[in-house]
Amino acid sequence: MNFNIAEKFISINGEGVLAGQLAVFIRFCGCNLECSYCDTRWANTMKPPVEVLDEHQIYRYIKETGIKNVTLTGGEPLIQEGISVLLEKLSSDKSLRVEIETNGSIPVVQFFSIENRPSFTIDYKLPGSGMEHEMYMLNFRHADMNDTVKFVVSDEADLAKAKQVIEKFELQGRTNIYISPVFGKIQPEALVDFLKENKLNNVNMQLQLHKIIWDPDKKGV
Ligand code: SF4
Repeated sequence: MNFNIAEKFISINGEGVLAGQLAVFIRFCGCNLECSYCDTRWANTMKPPVEVLDEHQIYRYIKETGIKNVTLTGGEPLIQEGISVLLEKLSSDKSLRVEIETNGSIPVVQFFSIENRPSFTIDYKLPGSGMEHEMYMLNFRHADMNDTVKFVVSDEADLAKAKQVIEKFELQGRTNIYISPVFGKIQPEALVDFLKENKLNNVNMQLQLHKIIWDPDKKGV
């Protein structure tokens, strides 16, 4: 299978349970959503430069980097035709830890039967994204401790909705939960205050490390 790759690079994981660790990133072209705050819009088109690689070439690139953590991102990785072929290939190498960042609109359970399956970081798109109606709700029932549910918060209304979703799907203790601010739209202190006021245990507040370390618009980091 051939895949359209917008960029591939080594950096540190900016988010999630492996935040701060080295990872090799594969960013796919194209997305089925249009979030208000999207910072990778440039990768969502099929306009050049696009590198076309098959699953063997992607695997070879990953192995050549010598990095064990692999993050498949986008765009939206799970809309790529033949993505299960790549996931099976990568999962068959037990020395790799493969994580997929997905936007919440694509059923992830279809990939759960893959042996040594990758972990999924599943966004719940809150009202501020303009894309909440696209969420595939069963994803939030299926996520387990191998996975993460992530909320990116634009404002107070998003915070309130995130709490509702956490409670409705009983996410605490069943999966990893991360909540982070849209860069420049809501102060991180507001998130901490919200966690304290609502006694939200087992919820991790996080800042996107790469936006702090590098220019927020810098690519390839
Ligand atoms: S799902 Fe991700 S890549 Fe797609 S529009 Fe939203 S933020 Fe951008």
